[in-house]
Amino acid sequence: GADVYFTEAWTQTEGAQRVRTLFENSYGAQPAGVWQAPGRVNLIGEHTDYNGGVALPIALPHRTYAAMSPREDRTIRLVSAQDDGGIREVSLDEIGPADSAHRVEGWPAYVAGVAWALEQAGVEGIRGFDLAIDSCVPFGSGLSSSAALECAVAVGLDALFELGLAGSAEEPNDEGRKTLVAACIRAENDVAGANTGGLDQAASLRCREGEALFLDCRTGRTEGVPFDLAAEGLALLVTDTRAPHSLADGQYNERRATCEAAAAELGVDVLADVTDRDAAIEKLDDETQVKRVRHVVDEIERTYACIDALRSGPLRGDVLDQVATLFDGSHDSLRDDYEVTCPELDTAVDVARAKGAHGARMTGGGFGGSCIAIVAADQVDEIARAIAEAYAEAGFNAPQFLLASPSLPAGAVSE
Ligand code: ADP
Ligand code: MG
Repeated sequence: GADVYFTEAWTQTEGAQRVRTLFENSYGAQPAGVWQAPGRVNLIGEHTDYNGGVALPIALPHRTYAAMSPREDRTIRLVSAQDDGGIREVSLDEIGPADSAHRVEGWPAYVAGVAWALEQAGVEGIRGFDLAIDSCVPFGSGLSSSAALECAVAVGLDALFELGLAGSAEEPNDEGRKTLVAACIRAENDVAGANTGGLDQAASLRCREGEALFLDCRTGRTEGVPFDLAAEGLALLVTDTRAPHSLADGQYNERRATCEAAAAELGVDVLADVTDRDAAIEKLDDETQVKRVRHVVDEIERTYACIDALRSGPLRGDVLDQVATLFDGSHDSLRDDYEVTCPELDTAVDVARAKGAHGARMTGGGFGGSCIAIVAADQVDEIARAIAEAYAEAGFNAPQFLLASPSLPAGAVSE
């Protein structure tokens, strides 16, 4: 049979030790502190964030760790265990949008972008800093390693320069964190030049341990939603497809553009404003726009229905069946109407369902990345093995797996 590989989450102590060592080996001094930020999976509400809709992420136990020290000048020095290019250097005065003369190349853009965006927002007191990064969040797998990197840096800067915006992971300053979310979004959109709707950064900074986060992407309003799988003998199995997703960026931009065009056609600001789905669809001539609008409007409805179900009682019996139906409906809509799945995602979902999963769907942007399935805890290994075998048979890259449970948001690591 195929090998089954699970990506374990480091404990915070382990993650902190790793970045401390990297920091000391790189800069010959101890860091002032260590901060962390989680990756995320979105339970439901996909491709709704940039349409002003709603989403329901949880923070992963898988985190990115940042060891940092302040400097007296305006230099940023940075090194990552995930990059073999050694120590990089960027000046705070030479950071700008990706299309400007001050373009920052490669992964340092995500880091420098956060400091730049905070200064652009009028936040005072930021200086240069030394930084070392290490992470157990799978890279480019739709689990938001990019947001984890930005958000770890954001809470680190908050502490180093006493910005007073973050609070702690256990007692977050949720208002202040909205400012950090906005800076991280700008870092990714403007400085790294990668499109993001904002869900990932909000999840990493604003989720709470033991709950899912209802997020209204337009207003930034959040609420906790119960999501205790362990209490019901269930687990959330994440399949990282490892599918090559070279199409992802272009297709993402195209989906956004189609949604904007449809909203303009319908005379609404964002598709979340569509109240009568069938009437809206009647008005559209373009078949592609019809499909995209149908997904967005239905997906928002499914997300609200899922929240209602999760709040109505423990995750078993009818409640579990309702959630399963909504997860399945979400995936099918992303496959048929939004057209952002790929054979690897569809295979993982089909196999999980055939093996008795209580709902399975792709999560994240699509065209590769990851899918999630609610499964009996004692069936995790069996279902992962079945997926790995189906991948081997189809000639896909070997998938990797991880288990997700709602974890702490970004904050300092107390050692
Ligand atoms: P995802 O967020 O789904 O993992 P993205 O393509 O949005 O995928 O972000 C991946 C990019 O983020 C990487 O190519 C790299 O530039 C940057 N990145 C994320 N984590 C790290 C890290 N630990 N070290 C260096 N760069 C990182
Ligand atoms: Mg990302």
